[in-house]
Amino acid sequence: MSEVGTVYLVGAGPGDAGLITVKGVERLKQADVVVYDRLVNETLLKLVPHECDRIYVGKGKGKHSLKQAEINDLIVRLAREGKTVVRLKGGDPFVFGRGGEEALVLAENGVPFEVVPGVTAGAAVPAYAGIPVTHRGLGSSVVFVTGHEDPTKESASVNWHELAAVDTIVIYMGRGNLAAIVTGLLSADRTAETPVAAIQWGTTGSQKTVTGNLGNIVERCTENEIEAPAIIIVGDVVSLRDKLNWFETKPLFGTRIMVTRATEQAKETRAELERYGAEVIEFPTIRIVPLEDYRAFDCEMDRLGSYDWVVFTSANGVRHCFARLEHRGLDTRVFGGVNVCAVGPATTADAKRYGLLVDSMPERYLTESIADELTRVDPDITRRKVLLMRADIATDALTQRLKKIGADVTEIAVYRVVPEDDVPAAAAEALREGRADIVLFTSSSTARNFARLIDQAGITPPRTAKFASIGPVTTRTAQELGYTIAWEAKEYTIPGLIQTIISTR
Ligand code: SAH
Repeated sequence: MSEVGTVYLVGAGPGDAGLITVKGVERLKQADVVVYDRLVNETLLKLVPHECDRIYVGKGKGKHSLKQAEINDLIVRLAREGKTVVRLKGGDPFVFGRGGEEALVLAENGVPFEVVPGVTAGAAVPAYAGIPVTHRGLGSSVVFVTGHEDPTKESASVNWHELAAVDTIVIYMGRGNLAAIVTGLLSADRTAETPVAAIQWGTTGSQKTVTGNLGNIVERCTENEIEAPAIIIVGDVVSLRDKLNWFETKPLFGTRIMVTRATEQAKETRAELERYGAEVIEFPTIRIVPLEDYRAFDCEMDRLGSYDWVVFTSANGVRHCFARLEHRGLDTRVFGGVNVCAVGPATTADAKRYGLLVDSMPERYLTESIADELTRVDPDITRRKVLLMRADIATDALTQRLKKIGADVTEIAVYRVVPEDDVPAAAAEALREGRADIVLFTSSSTARNFARLIDQAGITPPRTAKFASIGPVTTRTAQELGYTIAWEAKEYTIPGLIQTIISTR
């Protein structure tokens, strides 16, 4: 029999994927199997190794759910199969997460386990609403309580009368019984004027906060359709939100933005958008993959010394070029004294990461502008040999321009752009339910494949959705496909596109 594996009870944090701990990330990277709940941010699952199994055990619409006893059995069984199990739970595993019960079962069955605490919703969600759970003068005691029980039941174990004496009361799972909880607190002499906030989907781009007081919060929540998952916080600290509401005031807060780039590239775009408070929906329409046959490429690399210029038209080109060099046991030295041109700052930064410095970059970060740039920096360009590293599907526009100015151009594919096969479930749902406010086209191929994939899936984009383009070439393609472009980046980069959206919205 194989040795029993360890179970890591890991807190995933309250929603914002960045709120997992460093140790939690380490454990995810080592997992053979991850067993996760409904409130876990699914982007965290991208951290697990490719071959790791992902088992969903949460309750949710249309999804099969396991009873707690079945979850307990499952993690014991997986560990006994010798697997490293990450039991990923929303927030902190030991705060209303039934993590204690799971740990007890593991202990009883002799399964080794560790707990990786997480950022609990009770502290983090108010923080993202601009409410500190304690504050000198306003709240020097705080209690975390479940509102799941109906307080009017005889058997209720939460004594709201006693709790009412604590300055700040943070209620998990309290939406359903809110009216009864409020009645309980009022009858325990908390005044109707006591400030209250209810925060739904806190720390995410869908965060919704409603404030009021014990006298009107039930009504306010109903009016504003506050539903679970929500944290309800009662106490004078709530008044600090007027001054401390840092998250919901971000420029793209509440905006749902669909990113159509390849998965490998979406990460940076996501981070940039989230920095401004946007909610990101990933819809990879293309994949960037290595060539099937590198013979022609290798051949050019072997005679790189005979070129005067090497041109990279994308960061992908840089990455795949260096991946291939590394595969062959080569490095930057093959570039010798060849001059390097890169289309824009991201490509330049990537080259630098591999130890290759870029000599020139066009002022407008457009492939088409590269010919002008080379003419500007190299008076002898008409007599130069230029190697163009590009995608297999790139148009020959740049080659034609370089030829026109008299350069001796060779173009070589260094990676392939292949269309994705289908629309990811979450993206399809978002489009069908009208939950995509802005769709970002970051290249002509993303626009083309977006159109093809949604057409294939029988989806029409919501009428309210607006489209944004990274530059004039992409704009033209999108327009030909029938999309109205609401924003075209002023600077043709992703950060440039985001800035354009923010400044002209
Ligand atoms: N172990 C979790 C809590 C699980 S109980 C933790 O430590 O945070 C589930 C309840 O937590 C929800 O019903 C809701 O009250 C609260 N909750 C969790 N995530 C939340 C979020 N992002 N926004 C608001 N409430 C949340």
